[in-house]
Amino acid sequence: MNAEREERRRTMLERKKARAQEEQRNIAAGNPGDVDFIGMVREWRATHADQALSLDACQTSPPKICICVRKRPISDKERNKNDHDSVTCLNPEVWIHSAKLRVDGITKYLDHTSFQFDYTFNEDNTTEDVYNYTTLPLIDFVCSGHGGRATVFAYGQTGSGKTYTMSGIQNMMCEDLYFLLNSADSACTTDNTNVMVSFFELYGGYVQDLLNNRNRVKVLEDGKGEVVITGLTEVESDGPNTFLEILRQGNSARTTHMTEANDASSRSHAICQIMLRDAKTNKLKGKLSLVDLAGSERGSDTKSHNSQRRAESSDINTSLLSLKECIRALDRDASKHVPYRGSKLTLILKDCFTSDRAMTTMIATVSPGASAADHSLNTLRYADRIKEKRSTAPTLS
Ligand code: ADP
Ligand code: MG
Repeated sequence: MNAEREERRRTMLERKKARAQEEQRNIAAGNPGDVDFIGMVREWRATHADQALSLDACQTSPPKICICVRKRPISDKERNKNDHDSVTCLNPEVWIHSAKLRVDGITKYLDHTSFQFDYTFNEDNTTEDVYNYTTLPLIDFVCSGHGGRATVFAYGQTGSGKTYTMSGIQNMMCEDLYFLLNSADSACTTDNTNVMVSFFELYGGYVQDLLNNRNRVKVLEDGKGEVVITGLTEVESDGPNTFLEILRQGNSARTTHMTEANDASSRSHAICQIMLRDAKTNKLKGKLSLVDLAGSERGSDTKSHNSQRRAESSDINTSLLSLKECIRALDRDASKHVPYRGSKLTLILKDCFTSDRAMTTMIATVSPGASAADHSLNTLRYADRIKEKRSTAPTLS
């Protein structure tokens, strides 16, 4: 573990150095992209860099709802298309820069929009950073044995890093989960608790079991108001290695399908649930759900000529809007009505919103490119509206 961590830190520093060198080269060679824009963003960053707080400085006791942003590094593909980096994360703020022209038609200036969240992670932060500050506290919460429901969502445009972040989190989580279960003073231990895993995808209104050949299963609300997914596989995991193998199986069921139905992963929600069950009574002692949401841009994509795509888009739109309302209800008052019947996604996650012991993390992922700025803004607005007390800094020029 430690060696891996060292290695990750080393590559991180190397990447940072390589980027700085590239910037220098760009200055020397004349920039391939919009020289003025890149220069203005660089200048802005130089004068604002000291505004960023350390991640530790933002750490309070874990909030019931934690909303954070992760910006991924610019990719080679984007660089080759002369796209440029237009997002700056100054924890806990995020800034989106856009180039504007003054009325004289000649002078360019930068327009900025900013938001504040619990944390913002920039391109130099590792998935481990994201995990440590947003997910680790939830694992502790779930293992406390009081029936806690913790949910982590990755929300964002296709290609912004949802799956990258979620699969990293899945891998890190399993070590820590068993570490806690193996410690004698934990409420849930490997002696008294079974770890059960299910992994499924919500695609075009259907639930497909990723641990059983994408078998279609039904979602029902029983007489007692409990939501059950009939026939969904729950696989018992007796240690980190079994756990990793289950995750590998589920993730590969996702990607294999992707090649068949071109980019299906952007049109489906993938939900991995870890249930801690009492070894004697089977009672649920805690549940952690990791949700890799459908691409947020799908929700607005209603102009497609294909009617199936249009229906899918509208379905995704409904589920993402309904999700926002359910988390907002959680933020306001647990006793208030939670509109979980608004979509299949929120119905499946009912107990995550209605339990009086619920914690939620939303990781909003954004692409850095100027060409994605509109999508990134939509993502940040969505995340911003989940928590009511957020404020937006004034627009500067
Ligand atoms: P999404 O699931 O939101 O569609 P992906 O997770 O598939 O997006 O990410 C798109 C691409 O960007 C992938 O090639 C992935 O490896 C890369 N990527 C995403 N986030 C990061 C990151 N933080 N650091 C490095 N590469 C990343
Ligand atoms: Mg994905």
